[in-house]
Order: sequence, then structure tokens, then C-alpha cells
Amino acid sequence: MYAELYELPARLLDLPADKLHAFLGGPTLIHLQGRREAPLFVSVLMHGNEDVGWEAVRHMLKKYLPGGGDQELPRSLSLFIGNTSAAEVNMRRLAGQPDYNRVWPGSELPPTAEHAMMESIVDTMAHKGVFASVDVHNNTGINPHYACVNVVRTESLHLAAMFSRTVVYFTRPKGVQSMAMTELCPAVTLECGKVGQLHGVEHASEYLHACLHLA
Ligand SMILES: [Zn+2]
Repeated sequence: MYAELYELPARLLDLPADKLHAFLGGPTLIHLQGRREAPLFVSVLMHGNEDVGWEAVRHMLKKYLPGGGDQELPRSLSLFIGNTSAAEVNMRRLAGQPDYNRVWPGSELPPTAEHAMMESIVDTMAHKGVFASVDVHNNTGINPHYACVNVVRTESLHLAAMFSRTVVYFTRPKGVQSMAMTELCPAVTLECGKVGQLHGVEHASEYLHACLHLA
């Protein structure tokens, strides 16, 4: 139901979001080793038409050894590339697919194969002792960039405040990535403005870079 890789496939970072499905074949979890063991978990393309997370990862990883750069990753990174088939056609989700950000543990939707996939990913990250979690989205761009949390805890609020002075707390809808991951570690959802805005990509990229350097 998803592929699990332990290195970055050659030339993956050359591909825009709509070319990932042909290359990867579907949702893919990629574990990259860094100096600190406990991984940062980053999910992108939960919504196939919101490519800011993938663009930020492409940009950010080029600094580091796995992406052809000269710096060691300061912390391990587990990257989940989600709805590649929807990204291929620039849609939030395909007809017949559930919303990939409503099917994480705690979801109230009827169970699907995608629920089992997300449950397996959460289990994997629990076993790895996940350090923090970031799920990256675009939005309408009417608001400033903001981070969302699902608990009012110091660590999650700190993680959110690193991204924006605007922090949104929500407990519905259920089944979102950050709500599931917050059971394991500080977790945020980033909303990075409209698709195609370079500022959103740069902001998210700098933020992920900072998260990798957190102790
Ligand atoms: Zn989204």
C-alpha cells in the first residue's frame, strides 16, 4: 500500500510533484539517516494539488548529503510523500479516494485501505521514537501563513511559533495527520499560502531546516 525506502532515489529531487507518481508508483515513506537518531517526520502532498511541502523538501534537501549537498543531516528525517496519484493530475484527491488528511488514527470516516496505511506509518514512526512532526499544506492564501496545533502543550506551541506568530488550535475535523502524531511528539500542520508562491516554499524550507537543527 506504500513503499518504504532507506535512501533518497537518485534524481527524485529533480521531479515536480506531478512527476512523482510515475517515478515512485504511489505513496512512499523515505527514511534518511542523520546525526541525531530520533527522526523529524515530514509529510507532503496529503492533498495532491498542494505542492508547497514537496517543493520545500526539494529545496531544503539539496543542502544535505542525501540530496547532493555537502552537509550531514543534523537529525534523521522520515519523509512521507502522500497522494502521488492525485498530484499527477493536480487534484486534492481522486474520485473514489478518501481525503488523505482525514484518514489518520482518530478518523471518524468508515475504514479504508488508506486508514490502514496511515496507521502503519504512525506505528513505524512510534517505533523510531519520532522527535517532531510537520505536515505541510497550501491554502487559499487569504490568511497569513500559519501553523495549526491540536493540543495546547508547550512543545507543540513552540514548534508552531517557530513558523508564525499566528497559531490556530483545532480539534475537528478528526483524522488529520497532526492530530494523530501529537499522541507521539510535538506536531504541527503548516498552512503556507497559495500554490506556486515562492515565499511559501522558502518559508517552509527554512522552517524544516530549523526543525532539523532543534535539539
Ligand atoms: Zn491541504
